[in-house]
Amino acid sequence: MREAFLHYIWKNKLLEKQFYRTSSGEQIELIYPGTQNFDSGPDFFNARVRIGNITWAGNVEIHYNASDWIYHGHTTDNAYKSVILHVVYNDDSDKYTALLNIETLEIKDKFKPSLYNMYKNLNPNDSWIPCEANTKRINLHKSHITSYIHRLFKERIDYKVKQISQSLKNNLSSMEQTFYQSLLIAFGFKTNALPFELLARSLPCQIVNNHKNDLLSIEALLFGQAGFLDDKLLKGYPKRLSERYNALKTVYGIQSLDKHIWKFLRMRPGNFPTMRLASLSALLYKKGALFELVITCDDLKSLKDLFKVSLSKYWMIHFHFGKISKRKVKGLGEASIDSILINSVLPFLIVYGQQTQDYQIIAKAMSFFGQIKPENNTVTKKWKSLNMPLLSAVNSQALLWLKNNYCDHKKCLSCAIGQQILNSS
Ligand code: SF4
Repeated sequence: MREAFLHYIWKNKLLEKQFYRTSSGEQIELIYPGTQNFDSGPDFFNARVRIGNITWAGNVEIHYNASDWIYHGHTTDNAYKSVILHVVYNDDSDKYTALLNIETLEIKDKFKPSLYNMYKNLNPNDSWIPCEANTKRINLHKSHITSYIHRLFKERIDYKVKQISQSLKNNLSSMEQTFYQSLLIAFGFKTNALPFELLARSLPCQIVNNHKNDLLSIEALLFGQAGFLDDKLLKGYPKRLSERYNALKTVYGIQSLDKHIWKFLRMRPGNFPTMRLASLSALLYKKGALFELVITCDDLKSLKDLFKVSLSKYWMIHFHFGKISKRKVKGLGEASIDSILINSVLPFLIVYGQQTQDYQIIAKAMSFFGQIKPENNTVTKKWKSLNMPLLSAVNSQALLWLKNNYCDHKKCLSCAIGQQILNSS
């Protein structure tokens, strides 16, 4: 039995009852399974359970055996400190949980055995998408796929526009703060989007703008607020950053985030959050009102050029504080800039165009999507291997949306490809 099946049981609340006993004998009520995490760290975030008389909100880790906690190296990993419940198929040893002070729930006898057979049928050979075996049929309908791709792209953009519009409301209609927030989330890419969002919320753009001519202060604010300058052992340039941050922190009454929220695992050093923060600092330096520059760019090249920045000297030979690396030209590469434009800048331009009724800006943003290369990631590569057309960011955005919102939820009956397959069978 694979852990994916246990995730499926937990995520879809398929345990037979709502109340159980944990391995230590405490009564537990399952309230909310949380959001599944596909990156490093616990399997589910923000779950809610009631253990005894206390309602807990936090993360859940799932394993086949309780002892996997040790074998997977979670004991010394700070990312697992916030786990409130260890869900296991088989509680093979209570010494681990006693050691960790985390309640364990064994689910071996707590779901219908027929579920496992059903799960295997729904996931034949664990295929990447349910209709993978029908890809030849998909090929037969390429002309339909092209119009379907445009429909999916529109769904994806509408979703992003809605998110940014909501954020604009939350920011009391401040375009500048909303742009800054959306930009920072995009700088986190998928893995560090949440920490970057927390950073944007805890360090308003107005504070950064006040120091737009002083790179040391901008880096001090961003790295300090992110929690990277807490280390008492810092020396040299990091120490200067730390001293500057401590002074600014008192002036603005801000509190740093916990540095453990940042993820570095399975990342190329160039994508470390520290490198992203260094690029962001360089970008905000002298370009405080970046969004003004963005809305006045008339062609894609000028827009991309805005994001080509040189990092401060320290970051030319470091990927992280205190660890010297080879001297290298660092900064945002072409693919990273494209990703930031696709996920933040262009959707923001559409929102801006809607708010100001400037339809030319909306048309410009939509045309830029068609000029940007398709994203190159595991999902788009897989679609490519299934002969799906990948001509521009319009296609890659549409296909990412299809995978995440239709295929992964088995919404084949709501999908134009699924309907074609059914009609041709
Ligand atoms: S949602 Fe559509 S593309 Fe995805 S698996 Fe189902 S039929 Fe295939």
